[in-house]
Amino acid sequence: MEGLRLRAAWLLVPALVSAQDMAPAPVSVSAPVPGGGSALVRLQYRQGISVEGQDLPRGFLKKGAVQNAWVDFNDLNPDGKRWALIALFPKDTWGRDRVTHTVQYPALESVWLLSALFTGHGQNYDKLMAANPGLPEKLVTGDTWTIPPTLLLKDLGGQGSGQPDRSQPEDQLDDEARTNAYRALLSFERDAQGPYAAYHMRKAEALYSSVVLRYTDRIDPKDVNELALAIAKRSGIADIRGIQPGQLVKIPLDSLADPFQPEGTKALAEEQEVRAEVRRTARVDAGPRLKGVRIVLDAGHGGVDKGAMANGLWESDFVYDITMRVYRLLQEETDATVSSTISYPGLGFDSRDRIRRPTAEAEVLTTPPFAIDGEGPHATSVHLRWVLANDQFQKFQDKRGDARKTLFISFHADSLHPSARGTMVYVPGAAMVPSRFYLAPDRTAGVKEGRTASMVHFSGKEKLMGEARSRQFAEALLRALTAEEVPIHTDRAIRNVIHRDGGSWLPAVIRYNEASAKVLIETANLTNPGDAKNLQDPEFRQRFAEGVVRAIRAYFGK
Ligand SMILES: [Zn+2]
Repeated sequence: MEGLRLRAAWLLVPALVSAQDMAPAPVSVSAPVPGGGSALVRLQYRQGISVEGQDLPRGFLKKGAVQNAWVDFNDLNPDGKRWALIALFPKDTWGRDRVTHTVQYPALESVWLLSALFTGHGQNYDKLMAANPGLPEKLVTGDTWTIPPTLLLKDLGGQGSGQPDRSQPEDQLDDEARTNAYRALLSFERDAQGPYAAYHMRKAEALYSSVVLRYTDRIDPKDVNELALAIAKRSGIADIRGIQPGQLVKIPLDSLADPFQPEGTKALAEEQEVRAEVRRTARVDAGPRLKGVRIVLDAGHGGVDKGAMANGLWESDFVYDITMRVYRLLQEETDATVSSTISYPGLGFDSRDRIRRPTAEAEVLTTPPFAIDGEGPHATSVHLRWVLANDQFQKFQDKRGDARKTLFISFHADSLHPSARGTMVYVPGAAMVPSRFYLAPDRTAGVKEGRTASMVHFSGKEKLMGEARSRQFAEALLRALTAEEVPIHTDRAIRNVIHRDGGSWLPAVIRYNEASAKVLIETANLTNPGDAKNLQDPEFRQRFAEGVVRAIRAYFGK
């Protein structure tokens, strides 16, 4: 999606000029193994450590691990891990319960990697940073990083559990747990102006992100700024930039998102009903090849509709490229039936490493194809995307396809406040999905699919199930993207409604969609320079696509 208004305000962020950096070459070392012979230990950019399987003693493998040509570090047992780490990093000092690591390959190592290798979880990286004050986050050859006993994995001699510390809401990996942890930071009070939720600012927090983005459903820069100012006024804060930790902030109840409403409200009850549905909705197993799965991919813009623009980038071509990379991976590596709602006629379903200028033509692949005519509510192509997808899902079910094995993913990039960054995922909130919706014939441009697929009905149960399954997929997605080191939006990355201009809103492609699970992914925030740089990088787009495919496999696995 794009913020329709105030786009110009964020264009002041300087345009990015970045060389398309190549991934640094991997490092391999040969190390002797017990019983004679030797095996290779390899460190790859963003992939971590793997060891050559052929000559590896079985005694180095975790129980149940398969001895493939290359064995992942996580499939090694404590002896194997220690052997691989010492082989690759001979300059490290191993104490009884701590390790002092000397950086040797700064292009391949990262604080995240060190956390993953030595503490068992990349999410411990902030703890590792805190244990090594004064060292730069960007690793430098020869820097020595201490992995203290509290963080070093038990397997490696320390006391670390291998799980991230969960003392802060941000450390919660699961969306419901994190939302509850954020809720626990609020209390409900009343003043002369009425009831409000009281929040005390924590260190390094800002009003527009840590309060407005997190606790309300506003995301557009203008709405966020307006509400931040209103909240500041209500809270008696004169200088919005000079807020100290501990400052009391009063959030009016009518601005609070549903999950944060007080006990006994209808909004909170609905939220809890959906969460319960998520917990009791059984997984659908399709195996690693995704047999019998029907997936429709939707690149959110194209042609005359370039989408959001900032930092020298525009949404359409970059998200089309990610979509095509997902498309190709699914075609090559799975048995799922996959289609794309749109195509760039000159490019087809190909991906590109370099994207130079906006592609002028794009069409929705209806019968006949329909040239994309914009993205506003009056555009036809916006609706033809879900009409086409629903037609394909109906045909799939007509051929005895399992309705639970249908998935729709729409790819976008947004233009939020420049300080916000990372992926967000929209799911169709049950309360936002209509019981019936009908697209009048004059709005379907006469395409064949419009005759059968332009009318939808959703029962109460279907709305609830739709949100629950979409949330399950969204969570699998965020986990998989985190594993690919894709930044995730920190203040509630999964949303089921947007408030803008005083109303509630949900994108039509997921609102009227009949897939079992349907999500709209905001891959990145174009106005954030770091996100824009990522999106411009073909290696990032590939990694993102691999994360999506990994998530689909996890979602359809038991
Ligand atoms: Zn978009």
